[in-house]
Amino acid sequence: MNETKQILCGVIRDLLPSYVEQLTGSETNELVEQHLADCEECRKVVENMKNNEKMSPVIQGEEKAELDFLKKNKKRTRLIVWCSIVAAVLVICGAIIYAATRPSSYFIVDNGDDGVITVTAQNAAKGSSGIGYITIAEGQEMEVRTNLTDNSSITIEVLPANVDATTKVLMEETFTAINADFYELPAGDYTIRITAKKGANGDMTIKASGESDAGGNTTSAAD
Ligand SMILES: [Zn+2]
Repeated sequence: MNETKQILCGVIRDLLPSYVEQLTGSETNELVEQHLADCEECRKVVENMKNNEKMSPVIQGEEKAELDFLKKNKKRTRLIVWCSIVAAVLVICGAIIYAATRPSSYFIVDNGDDGVITVTAQNAAKGSSGIGYITIAEGQEMEVRTNLTDNSSITIEVLPANVDATTKVLMEETFTAINADFYELPAGDYTIRITAKKGANGDMTIKASGESDAGGNTTSAAD
């Protein structure tokens, strides 16, 4: 490609946008067309320009539609973001207030090494439960002491040591208030299922005891 042609191509290409848009006069058109007849590269440039011009209204249309969509959505998005922030702040504040003001709640069943099952409950919800294990020796009874307040109750179920799906409950008893109760059970190992069937507040101990009167259940006031 010689230098003159390069310059001419440059000039023509400067004119091409106006030429394609049909903004050029007849003399310029003639000049451009003469050059295009001889110059394949410039012809390609014109073809590209014409193709782009054909496509551009579609592209612009799509872009405009997309832009309108984005503009419409911008407001909505901003609103959603603000609502989300407010909601998050409210949830966090609520959680802090709830954590600070709610009464603590627990239902602890502790199976001690000394064979004493200790249940401590504070505002325990209905359904709170635990499992204890007890061994009753010959001549011993199961002693249950309760110190429950606020009309709360704790239910114990006595089951055989090895519990499975078919296991039958040997004994079920619900305790309220302050009591000391004694139950005769055959010597052996037992599983004790302990449940707050209402709410539970207070404490309970369950142990094997040889101190009570033999030969029957006795109920007496607590210490
Ligand atoms: Zn050219």
